[in-house]
Amino acid sequence: MKKKAAVAAVIAALILAAFLIYDGIHGKKISADFFAMNTYVSVKLTGADSDECATEIQQITESLDKDVLSRTSENSVIHRINQNGGGEIDEKVQGYISVLLDVCRKSDGAFDFTLGAVSDLWQFGSNPEIPNADKLASALSHSGHQKISLSGEKLIMADGQAVIDFGAAGKGIALDEIKAILSDKKIKEAVVSVGGSVLLMGNKQFTVGIRNPSGNSGSYIAKLRISESCVSTSGSYEQQFEQNGKIYHHILNPKTGYPVDNGLVSVTVVSESGILSDALSTACFVLGYEKGSELAKEFGCQAFFVTNNKQILAENGADDIIEITDNSYTLVMQ
Ligand code: AMP
Ligand code: MG
Repeated sequence: MKKKAAVAAVIAALILAAFLIYDGIHGKKISADFFAMNTYVSVKLTGADSDECATEIQQITESLDKDVLSRTSENSVIHRINQNGGGEIDEKVQGYISVLLDVCRKSDGAFDFTLGAVSDLWQFGSNPEIPNADKLASALSHSGHQKISLSGEKLIMADGQAVIDFGAAGKGIALDEIKAILSDKKIKEAVVSVGGSVLLMGNKQFTVGIRNPSGNSGSYIAKLRISESCVSTSGSYEQQFEQNGKIYHHILNPKTGYPVDNGLVSVTVVSESGILSDALSTACFVLGYEKGSELAKEFGCQAFFVTNNKQILAENGADDIIEITDNSYTLVMQ
């Protein structure tokens, strides 16, 4: 009897230990929200290292913004580069620049991260208004990705008045940095959204909504069922104003300096890479469906285009992953 009881006790202890290990790795769920990169960041983690990782995610996102990507933060790398008309940058920033230059070139300049001076004239963050046409033309003449090149550790700006702006890719870059932190930690699942860009990590199928362009941020027109990836949406509803009866928004046509006016209201891109999902959602918005979907394909990504006449345009076969949830929209695959 004594022996039996001892065996039972050992088994019970083993089961408890196994449960604790399982619970330690898989069980702990936390959710945290904070404000960084001019937007809301929401962190949802499951796994033993959740607490520690949530703290690290906040630190890295804030520091990436303040020390590297922000145009306005006095000590940031991008601020220094813009002030000095180029300069030395570390390997990470070289990596970001070379990916973005690739998107600029392959999108034939529809994506252009040197439009900072043009964006500033629209004043979207403060008092938006249609800029003076001469000032706009002048700012545009100093922009252009062709003016930026990398030579070893140096970023060269052929025009010292070009202004680098990572507004179209910074949130995706944050997702990549967050993914790198989580990859060797005990985290079973992660859903981290930085504004309109979301990181999904974990061995399961996730559901992500495509936002209703005319509803609030919690209302959706379709859902995507996808495995772990990064998903970014560029929407004209994010920053816009009305003047003389016309709506103006923050996604600009680099050829004219004016907001893109091609019938799209949003583009959502799914990619393994955060920086690509973010940059391509902006690039595809500027390019429109035909060229945009070609570009997304070239980068191995999937794109969903929402039009102002309530269609969702996607490549053939997209119905495997997208389901319309608002019946006033139609899925058009081509
Ligand atoms: P997103 O919301 O990711 O599409 O990024 C929009 C932001 O990117 C704007 O607020 C500008 O700072 C910047 N931007 C606007 N137009 C372009 C463009 N054609 N290429 C690259 N960046 C742009
Ligand atoms: Mg973007």
